[in-house]
Amino acid sequence: MQREKGRRHIIVIGAGAAGLMAACAAADQGAAVTILEKTEKAGKKIYITGKGRCNLTNACDMQEFWTHIVSNPKFLYSAVYGFDSQQMMGFIEDNGCPVKTERGDRVFPVSDHASDVTKALLGHLRGRNVQIRYHCPVKRILTSEKDGVSRVVGIETRSGEQIDADAVILATGGRSYPSTGSEGDGYKMAAELGISVKTPVPSLVPVTTREEWCARLQGLALKNVELTLLRPQESEKRKNKKPLYKGFGEMLFTHFGISGPLVLTASCYMDFKSHPEGYSLQLNLKPALTKEQLSARIKREIEAAPGKKMATVIRTLFPQRLAEEIAAMSGIGERTASSMNEKEIGRLEELIHSVPIQATGTRGFAEAIVTRGGLDVKAFNPSTMECRSVKGLYAAGEVLDVDAHTGGFNLQIAWSTGHLAGECAAEADIK
Ligand SMILES: Cc1cc2nc3c(=O)[nH]c(=O)nc-3n(C[C@H](O)[C@H](O)[C@H](O)COP(=O)(O)OP(=O)(O)OC[C@H]3O[C@@H](n4cnc5c(N)ncnc54)[C@H](O)[C@@H]3O)c2cc1C
Repeated sequence: MQREKGRRHIIVIGAGAAGLMAACAAADQGAAVTILEKTEKAGKKIYITGKGRCNLTNACDMQEFWTHIVSNPKFLYSAVYGFDSQQMMGFIEDNGCPVKTERGDRVFPVSDHASDVTKALLGHLRGRNVQIRYHCPVKRILTSEKDGVSRVVGIETRSGEQIDADAVILATGGRSYPSTGSEGDGYKMAAELGISVKTPVPSLVPVTTREEWCARLQGLALKNVELTLLRPQESEKRKNKKPLYKGFGEMLFTHFGISGPLVLTASCYMDFKSHPEGYSLQLNLKPALTKEQLSARIKREIEAAPGKKMATVIRTLFPQRLAEEIAAMSGIGERTASSMNEKEIGRLEELIHSVPIQATGTRGFAEAIVTRGGLDVKAFNPSTMECRSVKGLYAAGEVLDVDAHTGGFNLQIAWSTGHLAGECAAEADIK
C-alpha cells in the first residue's frame, strides 16, 4: 500500500459503528485512513439495529444517561462528554440523515431506515478519501519493541498481507449476532499482545427458566408488569436488601423461558459463571394495585360470582392462559369462590404480586443484543482510548468491556469511543 509522506496513516479494523466513526474523526484531523472490514459491507449490525430503524442514540440528560451504562461507566466519561448524543445527532444530520426523538428519548432517522445512518457515515468518509477494503479479515496486529516500549507498526491480514500503519484502531465488536461479522476476533488479537480480556458473555439476551409453565405460555406478551431480580441467595433470607434490578414494562413468554424488554435489561445483571445456581425473579402482575386494592378487587370478583370456581374468578383478572396457570399455582382453582377465607385471599394476592420465576441461564450470543466483557478497560487510557502497553494501538466500541441498556446507549458508546480513538490516533506524535 502506498503511504503518503507527512500524513499519519491509520488502519481501522472493522467497519461497524465504532470503526466508521473512528475513521470519520481521524480523517477530519487530516490522517490518511484505511478501514479493513472482514465482511462484504459496512455497518451490517447497524442495519439490523432498532428492528431495522436504528435507535442511534438517546437524547436524555447526562445524569440519566449514566444510569443506563452497565459496565465501566467511569471509563467512558471523557469519550461521552467529548462527543455526546447531541453532537452525534448534529453529526448525522449534517451528513444528510435527519433524526427524530421518540418515546423514552430514543433517537431514530426520520426515514426509519437504519441504512441511512450507515449511508451518512460512508458519505462523510467518501468526502475525505477514506479507503475501505471489504473481505479483508485482519489476523494480527504487528508491533515492534524499542527501548523497552512496544509500538504498533501495522497489521497482517488472514491472507498474509502485511500493511504498515502509524496507528491501529481495533473496532471489531463483540461476539453477539456473529452473522454480522462480530465473532470475537479482536479479543484474540489483543490477547496475543498481552492485553487482558474479561470473559465475554451474552447480555441483553433472553433468559431460560426452570418453570415449565413459562414455556406453556409461549407467545403471551404482558404489558405494565414489574420484574424484580433478586441478588443470589437472597430470595429467602435478605428480602430487604436492594434487588439487582427492578423494572416496569413489557415481557414475553417463550418456548425456553422469558424475553422482552424487561427481561433483556434484567439479563445485564446476571452472571451465571459466578452464580451457576441461578437467579430468583419475582413477577408482579398487578404493580399498579396495592396489597389492599388487589385484595379488595379479588373480593369484589368473588362476591360477583360466589358459586363459581376460583379458576373462573381469576380469569376476570388475566388473559385466559395466564389465569389458568395462576389458578394451578395457587392450588385453589377447583375451590368454590364463596369458600375462600381471608387468609387464602391474602395468599392469592401475594402470588399475583410476586410470581416466582427461577432463571437458569441465558440464550447464546446468536440472540444477544450485546456482549458483556471484552478488552479490560484498565489496559486503555480513558482520555485517548490508547492501549497503555502498546503505543499506537487504540480500541473503540463493543470490543471493550463496556455495555449498556437498550435505548440507543450501546451505539452512543460506539460513536463516543470511536470518535475519541479516531481523533487521538490522528493527533498523536509519530515516533
Ligand atoms: C439485533 C440488534 C439490535 C440492536 N439495536 C440497537 C439499537 O437500536 N440501538 C443501540 O444503541 N444498539 C443496538 N444494538 C447494539 C449495537 O448494534 C452494538 O453495540 C454496536 O453496533 C457495536 O458497534 P461496534 O462497531 O463496536 O461493533 P460491530 O457493530 O459489531 O462492528 C464490528 C465490525 O468489525 C468487523 N470485524 C470483526 N472482526 C474483524 C476482523 N478480524 N477483521 C476485519 N473486520 C472485522 C465486523 O465484520 C463488523 O463489521 C443492537 C444489536 C443487535 C445485535
